[in-house]
Amino acid sequence: MELHPAVQLFPRLSDTELKKLSDDIKKNGLQLPIQTCEGKIIDGRNRLLACQLANVEPTFVEWKGESIVRHVYSMNSVRRQLTASQNAVAGTNMLPLLEAEAKERQRAGGGDKKSARAQEEKGKGKAAGAKKDKKGKKAAGADGQKSLVETIPEAIGGKKARDEAAEITGANPRYIQDAKKIKEEAPDLFARIEAGDMTIPEAKRKLKARKPASKKADEPLVFGVPYEDVDYAKWSWNPVTGCKHGCDYCSARDIVASDPDGFEPTFHADQLVTPGIMKIPAARVNEPGIYNVLVCETGDLFGAWVAQDWVDAVIETVKNNPQWTFIFMTKNVKRYLKIEFPENCWVGATADTQQRAKEALEIFAQLRPRPSVLFLACTPLLENINFGPRLPLDWLIIGARDKSSKLPALQPEWPWVTSLMLQADDNAKMPIYCMPNLQIMIRQTPVLA
Ligand code: SF4
Repeated sequence: MELHPAVQLFPRLSDTELKKLSDDIKKNGLQLPIQTCEGKIIDGRNRLLACQLANVEPTFVEWKGESIVRHVYSMNSVRRQLTASQNAVAGTNMLPLLEAEAKERQRAGGGDKKSARAQEEKGKGKAAGAKKDKKGKKAAGADGQKSLVETIPEAIGGKKARDEAAEITGANPRYIQDAKKIKEEAPDLFARIEAGDMTIPEAKRKLKARKPASKKADEPLVFGVPYEDVDYAKWSWNPVTGCKHGCDYCSARDIVASDPDGFEPTFHADQLVTPGIMKIPAARVNEPGIYNVLVCETGDLFGAWVAQDWVDAVIETVKNNPQWTFIFMTKNVKRYLKIEFPENCWVGATADTQQRAKEALEIFAQLRPRPSVLFLACTPLLENINFGPRLPLDWLIIGARDKSSKLPALQPEWPWVTSLMLQADDNAKMPIYCMPNLQIMIRQTPVLA
């Protein structure tokens, strides 16, 4: 009988384990029937093999339910002691299956209706379509938002497959992203994680150590890809890493702490040349956010502990590379008062609480010259935030709390989110960007004159 692809999420038992299972079945019979769904085995391939070894007639039971992937994972995870890294690997392996299930649900729940509507729209004539396209390009607001939302990968109940996989496996979404990268770049290391011989941080270290060996001497350094799957910035640049703010919800620390540099503040002088030599692949020049670079994603460039020389070197590099827009965020916003930001900067503050928002807005109002874009990143949004009557702001990011080694993932209360949205709307319809971890999808970016 054919195996359902979801069964491959878990490795087969070793020969020794299989022999043990077969001996048990020979002695006590098959205790748990093999589960099938529409002619395919979804649980019990090891039991079936063991039955054949033991010469025992297997029994089958047909399973009915909504998500085979979810079911297979829950059946196996209770039997097997999976490590956090193995859970992330299982999460990575299930991504295409979850996307396929989401598509199937879409088809069953009105996909046909949608495509019929699309056909109807198409039939309304070329002129209307052209007008809409033009408007969509000009405004990254309401119309632009619609097109961005439509480019988000298949969603399951409003969530992306990666977040669904994280929910099912209990793995950190960033760990799943790391596992996916390791799978693409080093399948041998991925197999070792899957087998439980290696953790994700160990594999990342190995991968990092391998890179210089395969790198040609004259090969330029390139920007990284942001940890969060955001479309407002396609690159991350980390000339300074590490952070001493000590937030209990920090998931960056979980990831970076496993690197050789650790989470200690470190200056990477070699990174200063990257903006000057980095080239965008020709096929990607029209992607939204392709010229935008998140700066110091795994640290705080403006933390009180960061040497002024490091900050000056980064700002000087930014000034010399106007072809990029650099996006800064800090939790030590008062240090902005000593910085003169070049025009190609979006300057933001992380405001997870009312106090941080209040302090950031007071400082923003004093910045001279005023940066091109000032924004608050209320992520994770930990409490209700009221900005007050006047907002010197151009953009608002809202996000939830990611899972970290210290705390579980947590969604903010909806009244807090809707209150922020209403305040942004009252503030000259300020654009809002909901992070992928927030279970709502509004994605707008500032439009410069
Ligand atoms: S500021 Fe960011 S990087 Fe620093 S500890 Fe807090 S969450 Fe982590």
